[in-house]
Amino acid sequence: MHLHQATPLIPSRALSLLAGRDVWLKMEAFQPPGSFKIRGIGLACQHYLHQGAERFVSSSGGNAGMAVAWAGRQLGVPVIVVVPETTSARAVELLRQENAEVIVHGASWQEANHYAQSLSGSKDAFLHPFDDPLLWQGHATMIDEVAADGCKPDVVILSVGGGGLLNGVVEGLQRNGWHDVPVIAVETEGAASFHAALQAGHTVELAAINSVAGSLGAKRVSEQSLRCAATHPIHSALVTDSQAIAACSRFLNDHRVLTEPACGASLAVIYDSHPLLAAFRKPLVIVCGGATVTAEQLWHLSEKR
Ligand SMILES: *Cc1c(COP(=O)(O)O)cnc(C)c1O
Repeated sequence: MHLHQATPLIPSRALSLLAGRDVWLKMEAFQPPGSFKIRGIGLACQHYLHQGAERFVSSSGGNAGMAVAWAGRQLGVPVIVVVPETTSARAVELLRQENAEVIVHGASWQEANHYAQSLSGSKDAFLHPFDDPLLWQGHATMIDEVAADGCKPDVVILSVGGGGLLNGVVEGLQRNGWHDVPVIAVETEGAASFHAALQAGHTVELAAINSVAGSLGAKRVSEQSLRCAATHPIHSALVTDSQAIAACSRFLNDHRVLTEPACGASLAVIYDSHPLLAAFRKPLVIVCGGATVTAEQLWHLSEKR
């Protein structure tokens, strides 16, 4: 029994016509807590419960916190989420809807995270948003489903924040024997910690995050993501915030699904015909989702551009 759902794998007529190639979509936006995160976090929560955890602790006001809250409610385990003061009222409300106890603490995520760690006792399990092998193992199930559907893409396009999704998809490609299917790893220019790590040859801490794509805002990418780049063909792509936002709006019209800019970054590779696409005939885009975005917010962001 797992806590995530098998998601639809759909061919996109609109994006295929636009890109002049066969574009497929893995609809992770349809996971009940709004994003792919429940795959890995659900697995990790089940594992920690089995090991005797009596409470789950998270410091994410975004999709990772949502996934922990959802998993806790499903498993009957109390959840505490510490979020910084910058977290939107809507995000706090959504977490409380999942019966999580939400503590607003600190001006930044670092402070909220520090406080969350200090609250964690021996009976608590702390759920990291991206840097845990259990998460990658869980995220990999999305590629198992694609393989089971009998559809082999010739490239996978996904967004990178801390790199958990990337690590999981690479694990999934490799465990299905798809070593020949490369990944296009997309970031917005103001949150390009993976791109910086590739250039430096080691992970680096970005001085600041400067992007509307909040879910991509990890200052340092996981070490595992660099190891993936050494064992699997991975191309790094950068898009602007404007491209990511425009892609969300266009996708909403084309597929009637609302996504956050972190997801729009991947969609922009198709909508704006990124040069890296030229080599491929059958791209698969991971439509990673986003729980806290609203249509009003997206319009507001679009109007500011
Ligand atoms: C978490 C998340 C990402 C980034 O995933 P990482 O594992 O941190 O790289 C991208 N998009 C959405 C919607 C997310 O929730």
